[in-house]
Amino acid sequence: MPAIFLATLYEYSPLFYIAVVSVCFVVTCWIVLGWRGMDVPVILRNSDENTSNTVICKKQMKEVRNPFGLEILNPDTATLDKGVTLRPHCLEKSILSCYWGCSVQKVQEALQKHVYCFQIQTPGMLEEALYSEYLYKEQHIVQKQSKEEILIQLPEDSKIEDFGAVPRTRYPLVALLTMSDVDERELYPIVSMLTIIHIPDRSYRMPCRIMYQYLLTSQGQFYDLKQLYMSVSDNPEEAPEAMTEDVSRDKELLEKLGISEEEMQENSAKDCVVCQNDSVNWVLLPCRHVCLCDGCLMHFQHCPICRQFVQETFPLHSRTPLVE
Ligand SMILES: [Zn+2]
Ligand SMILES: [Zn+2]
Repeated sequence: MPAIFLATLYEYSPLFYIAVVSVCFVVTCWIVLGWRGMDVPVILRNSDENTSNTVICKKQMKEVRNPFGLEILNPDTATLDKGVTLRPHCLEKSILSCYWGCSVQKVQEALQKHVYCFQIQTPGMLEEALYSEYLYKEQHIVQKQSKEEILIQLPEDSKIEDFGAVPRTRYPLVALLTMSDVDERELYPIVSMLTIIHIPDRSYRMPCRIMYQYLLTSQGQFYDLKQLYMSVSDNPEEAPEAMTEDVSRDKELLEKLGISEEEMQENSAKDCVVCQNDSVNWVLLPCRHVCLCDGCLMHFQHCPICRQFVQETFPLHSRTPLVE
């Protein structure tokens, strides 16, 4: 029946036949070009395809073994009068040296000295670099692998109530971790860790926290250790906070350095914010959110949490190839 109908039409008008063939040709071309990704309506393409072409630069990372760790225990209760409890965790026997009221300028100069003059491997070297511009000092031996809690307190007769008005010329507390055994220093690329701690006092009541944590390398460099923001966190205080001074070079490397074994294990149980199916693995830079799994990473050019454009990424777990 349709054949008879078409034959009748053909006899009626050869032009109609030519028009039908032309329309078929145009539609075929359109579909073919659509598949090749040319600029035709997206409706002709697979809906996944427009995101999978996203190419995010994968940062080449170097894994470095950091022998030092330091955290503040119960930062909410730390004050100038009661002192602060620190918990160092070191892979080798180390020395914890704490300096109260350390000159801000001298600390920054000491870091520069580590780069250009001499390496800060011992408390004595730091004191030399600081020109002894601190108010009080105390030292503790930290045993290998122990997670001992150490209370750091100002001497009772110090009579210090604050460290001056903001902006300050002195850091409340500077903690230096160095290795006590000379031979063991050669086993690690990191020779010391300098932690700058804020402690609330009469004139500046912001809660106690780590302001900066610098890792000093045997190559004569220093890195500012930065926190990563995990998509699922037990700690509500881990909201992003502005880092005002960007003194670090290659700070991304340090983000890698800052991840301890425990954190890695903990993180592996955390779900990807997109598929909720796989563990998070990719650190997005510059926002430092860790919220995507291996499968979902390629579909995002913007961070799904803060919408910031992703410039670079690196994986937490080395099982993933670092470079593509
Ligand atoms: Zn996912
Ligand atoms: Zn983000």
